[in-house]
Amino acid sequence: MATIRRYYERPAIAELDSVVTGVSERADGASVVTLSETIFYPEGGGQPCDLGDLAGLPLEAALEEGDEVAHILRADPVALAAAGVCPGATVRSVVDLGRRIDHSEQHTAQHLLSSILLRAMGARTLSFHLGERHSFIDLNIAPFGRDDADAIEDEVTRAALDDYGVTTHLCPPEDPASFPLRKEPSVEAAVLRVIEIDGIEYSACCGTHVASTRSLEPFRILRAEKYKGGCRVYFVAGGRARADYRRVAGIAVRAAAAAGCADDELEAAVRSSRERQKELERSLAVALDEVAAARAEALDGSGDRSGDDSPAEPVFAVAASYDAGNRLARALARRGRVAVVDCGDELKVVACSPTGGPAVDAAYSQAAMAAGGKGGGGKAYFQAAFPDRASLEAFVAAARAAVVS
Ligand SMILES: [Zn+2]
Repeated sequence: MATIRRYYERPAIAELDSVVTGVSERADGASVVTLSETIFYPEGGGQPCDLGDLAGLPLEAALEEGDEVAHILRADPVALAAAGVCPGATVRSVVDLGRRIDHSEQHTAQHLLSSILLRAMGARTLSFHLGERHSFIDLNIAPFGRDDADAIEDEVTRAALDDYGVTTHLCPPEDPASFPLRKEPSVEAAVLRVIEIDGIEYSACCGTHVASTRSLEPFRILRAEKYKGGCRVYFVAGGRARADYRRVAGIAVRAAAAAGCADDELEAAVRSSRERQKELERSLAVALDEVAAARAEALDGSGDRSGDDSPAEPVFAVAASYDAGNRLARALARRGRVAVVDCGDELKVVACSPTGGPAVDAAYSQAAMAAGGKGGGGKAYFQAAFPDRASLEAFVAAARAAVVS
């Protein structure tokens, strides 16, 4: 039996008593309830479903199922029976009206935006998605810049402030051919709903809409970006745009306080801080390389070259970190030495060879794998990571015994 959809004719109604026409259990343990009439909009046309309570139980989703609306509840038959949900019983539905109004604002704003984009840029809307924080439409044009986005935003805002009425035509009895529809209706429905924004926009649509464009203000295009050879435009409208403005303004105020400047100085402060950070990183790298070079000199001259003092005889060392280990190994290689450096708690070993020196990957990769390490590299640089200290030390012991040539 087709569900009567009260959300169309009475969009502001928050509660409704209706008769349960069916109860069934889904494989995932959720229950499906059908009603003689409903105030819950089921998911469709890019718009998420309404939420709320059914007989005091939270509604998980409302979905189209043929000509019925399936109300999904996360409750088993026992819980449903306890709440009085059984065929023939009258139950009360309570819709989350804040969510409904928000969705209606975003959806109606999409109609207005799509119509203005078509008129101003010849852009056709290919699809619409109403998301948790913002909505987007996909267009058949190349992405546009902020100036164009601002101009479109201004035009939508003007139309919103002009307070156009939003009305619904049912076809039949009206003839769809009598309306200049923005695009061909995609669904074959017994009754086609044509949404009109007071002579400026006509679209076949099954979603929920506000009564006038006034509530679509403020309207904001967040960004337009390249998407699949076309353009995706993100936007917010009405109460959601006000909330988004507050959120962004709050971020600006807190960020300015953290940066110790006024909010209009924030961009300059962030840029200068990043420049300063880059300078400090460059200075720090120079200083760390100097420390590594000094340590390499000490190790090179310390007699750590066991045996015949051949330049190929590796220097074994321990560093405090992977970064320090890399700098030390490279500094030793610059001095003409093969270096094997244990990077401490990071459980990595790096090995370096001077230009024209022996191939460290050939010398150490097998021993690293045999000790349980994973690594790789080339002739002049090899590194390996180990699961624990014992396997790292087993590798170092094998590397000390290895012949490097
Ligand atoms: Zn619509």
